[in-house]
Amino acid sequence: MRVRFHGAAGEVTGSCHEVEAGGHRLLLDCGMIQGSREQERRNLEPFPFAVDGLDAVVLSHAHIDHCGRLPLLVARGYRGPIWAQKATADLLPIMLLDAASLAEADAARFNREARDGRSDHRPLFDRDDVEATIRQLRAIAYDEATEILPGVVLTLRDAGHILGSASVELRAQEDGHERVLVFSGDIGPRGTPILRDPAPVPRADLVLLESTYGDRRHRDRAATVAEIGGILEDAWRDQGNVLIPAFAVGRSQELLYWFARHWDEWKLARWKIFVDSPMAAKVTGVYAKHADLFDEAAKRTWRDRPEPFRLPNLRLTVDQAQSRGINGVRGGAIIIAGSGMCNGGRIRHHLRHNLGHAQTRLIFPGYQAEGTLGRRLVDGADAVMLMGERVPVRAHVHTVGGLSAHADRDGLAEWYGRIDGAPPVVLVHGEDRARTAFARTLQERFGSDVTLARPGLTTDVL
Ligand SMILES: [Zn+2]
Repeated sequence: MRVRFHGAAGEVTGSCHEVEAGGHRLLLDCGMIQGSREQERRNLEPFPFAVDGLDAVVLSHAHIDHCGRLPLLVARGYRGPIWAQKATADLLPIMLLDAASLAEADAARFNREARDGRSDHRPLFDRDDVEATIRQLRAIAYDEATEILPGVVLTLRDAGHILGSASVELRAQEDGHERVLVFSGDIGPRGTPILRDPAPVPRADLVLLESTYGDRRHRDRAATVAEIGGILEDAWRDQGNVLIPAFAVGRSQELLYWFARHWDEWKLARWKIFVDSPMAAKVTGVYAKHADLFDEAAKRTWRDRPEPFRLPNLRLTVDQAQSRGINGVRGGAIIIAGSGMCNGGRIRHHLRHNLGHAQTRLIFPGYQAEGTLGRRLVDGADAVMLMGERVPVRAHVHTVGGLSAHADRDGLAEWYGRIDGAPPVVLVHGEDRARTAFARTLQERFGSDVTLARPGLTTDVL
């Protein structure tokens, strides 16, 4: 058994690792590279392996940096199975169709902007490629050992990161010996609402471990939730609206969970609550469908309700007219909308109508990358451009930091520490600073043999 690293090997996006096992070739994840335009152009490059030589693909979860190049893989000739947890298989069409429409819009804009007027920039992939990809999905449950190729057994363990997220365990017979390769996928923090804590993996001969936040410790989640309650109280006193830019997967559902939990305490019945994102509405539907995967606290929270996430005053707005209707609400509305970093999506309309009012509260529950509108607001911009209009910022802007979907240094170390015998580790999915610091943590705490993945590096599973 042997692993070759292609993506998320020295960076955070573009997760992609190739495995040789029992004489077969597999791919773990086929993620999109995300970042600047130059970085994203790398998605169009040829794959650094022979696509027609692949026998199977295993997908850890539905985030686009783990699954976003699957339609391209299929368009370039991959016809084999794509294995994923059942909830991931339900989230995948939503994520990939959204990515396809963004890619189509990007290509159209590029062609418009091209000076010679003859540019024929093609989108990375289209809806037909997505539909072909979905037909190749093979959905399995957690903890269900499945022989996916002769002599190669796959088991997915709950990774507690987003719904359906999995750590991948591959067992293969080679020369009469069983070898076990474990790929962590993205690991969630313990105590993430709705989801169960990451499941332990019993044994491994080699571990590919994510290290996104391997150099830091997260703020306590309970303190963050209490802070949100306080901001809502202030906003009500001022009769303002509350805007929350949030990603469609995970963060939006977590907010609805906290609203259900603090319904009385935060006096939420007096508000109008909107989730203004067709994608978040669909994803919330998939979460509700897989309520059997929820942790005990979430099951208890929604036990006596007709369905999870519903609140009496919650409206999931799907069409544009409903969305525009919210613009007339001057106060007393909580509006959750995408995109999470305000670079696109309906949140921009709401910002345009609300940023100029001092009663407005704008809450950022997630990280704002350099170069995004969200980042400019967090950094205290006096005014921002929205739809060609200069909008002054008089709203109160809050960043609440403790709602990460990734385990921090101690969470990652704890997950690894539960595997028997401190096996060798290759760190993936992390910037170099985080990986170097985390490598030291693992060496000090467990005496582990730690390697940092690089594109093209090959490691044998011994
Ligand atoms: Zn992820």
